[in-house]
Amino acid sequence: MTDTSPHKHEHKHPHDAAPENKVMENGLVRRIVLPLPFPQVQQINVYIVGKKNFILIDTGIRTDDSYDLLTAALAANNIRHIDAIYITHGHVDHFGAAQKLIKDGIADNKIFIHQKEISNINNEYDEALYGNYLKRYGIPQEILDMMRYASAFFDTLADRLDKVSFINHGMHVDYDGGTFEVIQTPGHTSGSVCFFDREKGMMLSGDTLLSRLSPNPLLDLNIDGGRRKSLVEYIASMDILFNMDIKTVYPGHYETIYDHKELIKNLLTFHYKRMMRIHNILKQKPMTPYEITGGLFKKLHQTDVYLAASEVIGHLDLLEQHDMVQSFERDGLLYYAVV
Ligand SMILES: [Zn+2]
Ligand SMILES: [Zn+2]
Repeated sequence: MTDTSPHKHEHKHPHDAAPENKVMENGLVRRIVLPLPFPQVQQINVYIVGKKNFILIDTGIRTDDSYDLLTAALAANNIRHIDAIYITHGHVDHFGAAQKLIKDGIADNKIFIHQKEISNINNEYDEALYGNYLKRYGIPQEILDMMRYASAFFDTLADRLDKVSFINHGMHVDYDGGTFEVIQTPGHTSGSVCFFDREKGMMLSGDTLLSRLSPNPLLDLNIDGGRRKSLVEYIASMDILFNMDIKTVYPGHYETIYDHKELIKNLLTFHYKRMMRIHNILKQKPMTPYEITGGLFKKLHQTDVYLAASEVIGHLDLLEQHDMVQSFERDGLLYYAVV
């Protein structure tokens, strides 16, 4: 079997229809589906939660078409005011419209997000830092150039947030109709959180659990030059979620998830198989992450190289964690070899 895309994993889901706006949980949760201009993901789900007073979980991007659909959906649901906005993580599709909602007087000036998402919401893409790192991985200059354009494009999809407050793991968020516990689930990003109403067994998961996309634990560099082991973190988060008593997961994209254990089992199997395939590829000879990416994905579109390489690096971290590969540097390039 040959992979053609880095982030679609194969397991079949019984309901494949694209989600629509819907009122759920006896009127407590309203899903609003908004458009996205990304080839990999075309829609985002944002959620309005509450009976008479409302909070908004994620916002969609700030473009007119998305914003107009969001405000139209609020009006259609007779919702005139949002008390606070909670952001699952700092990607533009999840927070882009927050500042505009506040500016237009629709939402109170209360935005909550995990502290570790600050560099994401500020779009602190440090070209030199990433350039140095990615060149070591063997990634060619044209891909780095494309990342610069992508970063500038993402910047147009969100208004800067003036003021945010921080939420941490274990914090309780009371809303009109229940209480959410903040569960930090690093992986997709380091400050990704899920909102869990334990009493109802309901979780709003952002991009941490998705039914149709293995959420890309993205390559993520620190200013000090360190690198977060995204996939290692993500798998640890999956272990925590697996053991939780969750009935319903409302994700940031795609349809509602009713069996999170099955989903996590499939995800872990997928990552284990991918890890072993990379191990196999490396038996031929030591390779850079970029060479492995080419060996793994035969027909890779240029725009997918970064995501694919991010995944490969994640799997190399896992292999390293299991003492199955080791890395060494030669002529400014980083190679991995089986142990
Ligand atoms: Zn995301
Ligand atoms: Zn997302």
